[in-house]
Amino acid sequence: MIEENVKNLIREIPATNPFGEKVTLVAAVKFQSTENINRAIAAGITDIGDNHVQEFRDKYSEIQGNPKRHFIGRLQTNKVKYLVGKTDLYHSVDRLKLAEEISKRSESLSRVLLEVNVSGEESKGGFGLDEAEKAYLEISKLPNIKVVGLMTMLPDTDDESLLRALATKTRAFLDKIREKDPDFATLSMGMSGDWRICVECGSNMIRLGTAIFGARNYNK
Ligand SMILES: *Cc1c(COP(=O)(O)O)cnc(C)c1O
Repeated sequence: MIEENVKNLIREIPATNPFGEKVTLVAAVKFQSTENINRAIAAGITDIGDNHVQEFRDKYSEIQGNPKRHFIGRLQTNKVKYLVGKTDLYHSVDRLKLAEEISKRSESLSRVLLEVNVSGEESKGGFGLDEAEKAYLEISKLPNIKVVGLMTMLPDTDDESLLRALATKTRAFLDKIREKDPDFATLSMGMSGDWRICVECGSNMIRLGTAIFGARNYNK
């Protein structure tokens, strides 16, 4: 099933979004066994994203095929040390302190995305769009950090027009900063339920768990 899901997704995800950009598929691997993750990689997954530092560490050396490693979860400052040097992209930099810690621990440039909270839901982390530009400027000054774009999680809703409005707003914000900084080009937006809408609205990186692995078993 995993193999079939990956193959179908690779076929279905458009090669480029309406902005002419390649769409990168990141497999969200939380709670998955290394066996399942390796099956997904063998079927064509090139990028994997963890949410939990402990899982990232436990599985790190068992993962085959040398995929790109993303960290997509909420990150405690005191755990950054376990990820530096092993993470290709940090998606969820949601506060200055975290960026400072990544910069301090990194021996070479670490690539990060700023997490933005576009819906204003209190349960979600991230900078409000009104504070994100200031955060971008501050974090960009840190010596070992390269801010390469935005990550967001849209609300869990079937309201397509709301999702489109929020996704379009996020893309517009990316483009605003990108005018001055061409490297600010990654928009990580879209999960199993909303990725099609997100790609249509200008996402170029989607994080899929359920669509690849099926429903998660949280009891394991
Ligand atoms: C779990 C998770 C995903 C994937 O969610 P699905 O709905 O299973 O595709 C994407 N992004 C983040 C940050 C996640 O925690």
